[in-house]
Amino acid sequence: MKKMECPSCAMNVDAKNKACPICGYEFPKPNPEWVWLAIILIVIFLLCTIV
Ligand SMILES: [Zn+2]
Repeated sequence: MKKMECPSCAMNVDAKNKACPICGYEFPKPNPEWVWLAIILIVIFLLCTIV
């Protein structure tokens, strides 16, 4: 089982949990849109520095 550390109580909990079973902290789910936005911004930044 994949484990992850709760950022709120620092306990190792199952990564499949949507929220921490110990303290109830809701884990932020990874957003693919943010990843794409970051990639696009990096590409624009690189183009600006090269030109
Ligand atoms: Zn917790």
